[in-house]
Amino acid sequence: MKLGSKPGLSASAWRGLLVQAALAVLAALLVGELTGHIGVGLAAVLGALLLRQLYLLQRVLVWLQGDRVDLAPDAGGVWGDVIGLIMRLFRRKQYHKRRMRQLLRELRHSTAAIPDGVVMLNPAAEILWFNRSAGELLHLRNRGDVGLRIDNLVRRPEFVNYLREGDYRSPVVVQASDLSEQYLHFQIVPYGAGQLLLLVRDVTRQAQLEAMRKDFVANASHELRSPLTVIAGYLETLSQDEALEPGLSGPIQEMRRQALRMTAIVQDLLELSRLEAEGAVPRGEPIDIGALLAQLRDDLRSRKTLAVEVRLAAESTDRLVGEEAQIHSACANLLENAAKYTPTGGVITMRWWSDAQGGHLSVADTGIGIAPEHLPRLTERFYRVDAGRSRASGGSGLGLAIVKHVLQRHGGSLQIESEEGRGSTFSCHFPVSRLLPAA
Ligand code: ADP
Repeated sequence: MKLGSKPGLSASAWRGLLVQAALAVLAALLVGELTGHIGVGLAAVLGALLLRQLYLLQRVLVWLQGDRVDLAPDAGGVWGDVIGLIMRLFRRKQYHKRRMRQLLRELRHSTAAIPDGVVMLNPAAEILWFNRSAGELLHLRNRGDVGLRIDNLVRRPEFVNYLREGDYRSPVVVQASDLSEQYLHFQIVPYGAGQLLLLVRDVTRQAQLEAMRKDFVANASHELRSPLTVIAGYLETLSQDEALEPGLSGPIQEMRRQALRMTAIVQDLLELSRLEAEGAVPRGEPIDIGALLAQLRDDLRSRKTLAVEVRLAAESTDRLVGEEAQIHSACANLLENAAKYTPTGGVITMRWWSDAQGGHLSVADTGIGIAPEHLPRLTERFYRVDAGRSRASGGSGLGLAIVKHVLQRHGGSLQIESEEGRGSTFSCHFPVSRLLPAA
């Protein structure tokens, strides 16, 4: 049968079959009438018809079981139509298969051309597929490594923790090996039924630039500290000099204030640099947060210029395990801000409590508050809602950046709620792993 023949069960084929059967039966009846054996004649004719259909059926079956679909039996009639239909289905399947193959090839070529590494992982984190860049960046072997767990091949602890913790909202940057200068940026994207797409990028250049920037800020701050101390010291002596011309007293006071502000900025920059250089606080000592806050409250109350009420609610006796100097600095910064931005008659409330989620520390004030559009940017360095006001009150613009870094180093997070004109609440949340019940 030709491949191009028209498919479909045609009426003429049916008619042909029926006419053939009717003629055969008629002939059988005629021969039977003449010979006197109608039954034998009919049985012989019907048997022959059945045999022919069985023979054709067998040929179709042999054809279907073979590999050569193009060598269809030339059956004609109804069987020809059936074969035509089967071939139509087959050609349609072939067409879709070809298209899928072509699509897959294009997909492969395009992912291979992506400069970023892409690794497909199953829910057990075993490698299903990876592109060329991923192979180069992670030193994966094409055949040998498919089916192996990715954390058996990429063993950096930061990456292994990232993969196992299952919180893939933010990426992680990892040094390729202890001796290597290379830094890799990993981002996991979950998809389908628990499958994971691992995206890898070489960020060595960005990491080097970032390190240079941090070094520069740390060195510049360090170098500025000594001359500033000398200038502030002399200005202090000068301002106390009784023989000073009256016209000079004002400018010298202002110079002293500005020198102190610069000293505060340099100190904050140095503190930030130190926080950035250190990794996460490994463990630290148990800190009595209630006592620390009480100390800060007393220091604040002893300020003569302050006209706000300071309250403390230490509801938990749990200790926070961490670096005391850093936690003290974070709390002091939050309290300093609350005092700075709360007008006379306001109230500042400090709270420490713990629950199933972990430890929580908050500093709430009834001050000027912050408009919602500023909230996401408050922890950026030198970001101020009102630069003039902040400078006038001696702010460096680095306080909240320091708080954020301290919390990150303790596995915690900062939450800011505020309403303009009504006040703000800065809450620090620490994980349960950082809590220790009081002895
Ligand atoms: P600054 O030294 O300027 O206070 P911070 O980083 O500590 O710098 O704070 C950034 C900005 O956030 C401040 O300039 C201020 O506008 C705003 N801010 C911080 N704390 C409060 C608060 N308790 N009430 C109102 N605004 C605040």
